[in-house]
Amino acid sequence: MRTVRCVLILALCSLGWVVSAQEKPTGAWTPESLEQLKQLQKAAMADDYAYQQVAHLSDNIGPRPVGSAQAAAAVEYVAAEMRKLGLDVHTEKVSVPRWVRGEEHAELVSYPGQVPGTNQKIAVTALAAPEVATSKDGLTAEVLVVNSLDELHSLPKEKVAGRIVVFNVKYDDKLAASGFALEAYGKVSQYRYAGRLEAARMGAAASLVRSAGAGNSRLPHTGGTGYSKDLPAIPAGAITSEDADLLARLTKQGPVKMHLVLGSQWLSNVDSYNVIADLKGTEHPEQVVIVSGHLDSWDLGTGAIDDGAGIAVAMQVPQVIKQLGLKPKRTIRVVAWMAEETGVNGGLAYAKQHQAEMTSHFAAIESDLGAGHPTGIQYGNDEKLGDILAPVAEVLEASGAGVVRPSDDTGADIIPLNVHGVPTFAPIQDAQKYFLWHHTAADTLDKIDPQELRENGTIMAVLAYALANMNGDLPRKGKPIPEWMK
Ligand SMILES: [Zn+2]
Repeated sequence: MRTVRCVLILALCSLGWVVSAQEKPTGAWTPESLEQLKQLQKAAMADDYAYQQVAHLSDNIGPRPVGSAQAAAAVEYVAAEMRKLGLDVHTEKVSVPRWVRGEEHAELVSYPGQVPGTNQKIAVTALAAPEVATSKDGLTAEVLVVNSLDELHSLPKEKVAGRIVVFNVKYDDKLAASGFALEAYGKVSQYRYAGRLEAARMGAAASLVRSAGAGNSRLPHTGGTGYSKDLPAIPAGAITSEDADLLARLTKQGPVKMHLVLGSQWLSNVDSYNVIADLKGTEHPEQVVIVSGHLDSWDLGTGAIDDGAGIAVAMQVPQVIKQLGLKPKRTIRVVAWMAEETGVNGGLAYAKQHQAEMTSHFAAIESDLGAGHPTGIQYGNDEKLGDILAPVAEVLEASGAGVVRPSDDTGADIIPLNVHGVPTFAPIQDAQKYFLWHHTAADTLDKIDPQELRENGTIMAVLAYALANMNGDLPRKGKPIPEWMK
């Protein structure tokens, strides 16, 4: 009797399991669509197209600073590669600043314990904004180290006036190690932006920020900084975490003087371009799903992780779809954004040029956090998106990327679309190592693991095709317009 009951229970249990497996909700997708997503996943995980693309962008074209000859060559290159795939390609004009790094060096010329006739070199790099240069001969001034904006504001103006202010705010490695690298970056990059303005307000001679990022290889991290026509335009640079610590120690012992030369120039605007490449939809060609990254990079490295990798995985989406002979119902549009680093110029220009078509922008995806191991999909906007994407997450689970979660950051270039209600998405990437190399001379191809890049390309392809072929609509709850867009 006992045996019979056990067998019966086992039979019922396994029957129940079979039934629930068969009845697993497919949501907005037909079983056939979900099968196609699995085929795409398999093909993308075996595809080296994205790696070849990022290798060309970073090794052959090299750094692609905004307004440079390399950025222009990268526009031509991506457009030509997308034409080779048979896509409908055009470029759209974006007016961009041209920022050129000049000579840059710094040394301590007076400090406690100095050996007569010697000085100490400080590793420095200029930040980008109008009028950040020193005079040709540079400036020499006493160093003032502060640990926060509050500390700066608590000082009497005469203690700050004429000094080189060093903002010594540490990147939180532990926060980054817990999966919050972007949050750790956000806490320090605000100093890179606001430090210059606040130091200028207090009459400082120059502003130096401890590099906004991780790292212990004495590499300064560049980036944009604040500019206001209402404040004196003081020179601004970034120093390494090692040198920020050195200055904190030495200034505790006595006065420290630094000689600083920054020769960068913010030149008048030039024409550059976003690249737009469409794989036309068969049922709703007017409805667009964007897959994207940004084509410009900083000049110190070769822009492999920021954001050659993002461009490459976006380019791979139509390549792998075509390879399988699949046809998206909505149009899949690859966009290579120009000039993210100097203020999202390309993203803003696109939203303006396409304002009348915002309601036909079904969704936008961007990859702009390197090429680290991804664990799933993050989405902006509405929480309902998480439930809607559950069947897609189920497919991605097979390649270890089944997490779906909301996020405040799905890529800067698609924020201007998001404020118009376009739902936005990005892969969830492990960005712990990313911020070791981000905006430094070490942003080079060797930092990309081909397998991890394939994992990212897989998410882009599966998600883009899923959105292009889903039944029904997505909720369109846009972000409020952020301050920098006003
Ligand atoms: Zn980037």
